[in-house]
Amino acid sequence: MTTTDLAKLKEQIKKIALDMGADLVGVGNQERLKDAPPSADMSFSLPGAQSCIIWAYGDPIDAIEDYFAKKDRMGAKKFKHFAYTTAWKTAEKIRKFIESNTEYKAYTVVPNYKSRRHEDGSRFDMYKDDWGYPDFSLKYGAVAAGLGHIGWQGLLVTKEFGGACYLGGVLTTAPLEPDPMVEENYCTGCKICAKICTSGHFSETEEEDEYPVVIGGVKQVYGKREAFCRCAVTNIGLIGVSEDNTWGTWAAHHIGTKKDSAELWRDPAYRTKLKKKIFSSKDTPKKLRIHAGKVIGNFMRGSLAENAGIVTLTEMNPRCGSCSYVCVPDPKKRAELLKLIKSSGKVSIDDDGKEYIEKFNEDGEKIVYYPPSQEESHYTKDMDPQKT
Ligand code: SF4
Ligand code: SF4
Repeated sequence: MTTTDLAKLKEQIKKIALDMGADLVGVGNQERLKDAPPSADMSFSLPGAQSCIIWAYGDPIDAIEDYFAKKDRMGAKKFKHFAYTTAWKTAEKIRKFIESNTEYKAYTVVPNYKSRRHEDGSRFDMYKDDWGYPDFSLKYGAVAAGLGHIGWQGLLVTKEFGGACYLGGVLTTAPLEPDPMVEENYCTGCKICAKICTSGHFSETEEEDEYPVVIGGVKQVYGKREAFCRCAVTNIGLIGVSEDNTWGTWAAHHIGTKKDSAELWRDPAYRTKLKKKIFSSKDTPKKLRIHAGKVIGNFMRGSLAENAGIVTLTEMNPRCGSCSYVCVPDPKKRAELLKLIKSSGKVSIDDDGKEYIEKFNEDGEKIVYYPPSQEESHYTKDMDPQKT
């Protein structure tokens, strides 16, 4: 293909991503990722890959506000489902377009829920393994494609949506011209992402130095991270409460783990004990154990499919993700969102297994209410709030 043909191909690919609902799209190359960690190596997924096309969907602010206020979880849920399923469909469409119209190969990157297997073929186990790595890291690809930088919470932070966005991508052997990388870093270092995290998965003060990420010659600065499980049990929604036990994530198990040290978390006996406390200990009320079984069941079905892009709406259940959602572009809004979750109380489970919220108003009066279910929520099933 001539340079002109490649330029046309790049524009056609970008148009597909945008036409199918993406808000941002860019192109990066392997050269820019040569000094990044192994999950930035495109050839692991597609031998001979030279370029990555990465796109993003920005989370709608009204859904984020309702999520942190514990008013309605369904806007975040439905947008997450829209973003992952659309990312997958878009990637498939682009792959087919490249392979049907050119001599180049392409590879659809799974948007989430897939970790590289161990040498013996076994899957990543969040309770046993400290770390899991995707086949290809979309966030590293996104930095190389000029969408933003890695922020303190370790996620992509863009100018347009901060860190509150989802990513999709395709790899190709086509040598596309990369887009310019972003010069300004839109992570302002406010550390609100660390303050809102109830698990303590990453440090508020200490920079990660054991796992350097350099993309396009630029070192990405992010907080020191601890064992993946520390985030996973909270992000799935099995546990999640503040250190003072006054507010939480969308988790019914009010178990706080932020104070527990990194050493403790690396101890397999600690993780086994925590697992027992969540799922099987007779000291835990039966309704909570049943609820935890449902939460992990929904997650596992998606996880076993190893592709967030094919998970059903019912199985897609954000219950934390706070470090991403809170990182909106406006620093003042971030502070407001932190305040909002701190006044939003905690989720509990009634005897019928339904989620309800308990919180206290400014006069110290207790307020109890049931947030809308998937069917009751005003967020429509097929919503795409970025476009309305
Ligand atoms: S919340 Fe603040 S410190 Fe954290 S990633 Fe976003 S901008 Fe950076
Ligand atoms: S997803 Fe939740 S638990 Fe995990 S790092 Fe982010 S805020 Fe912390």
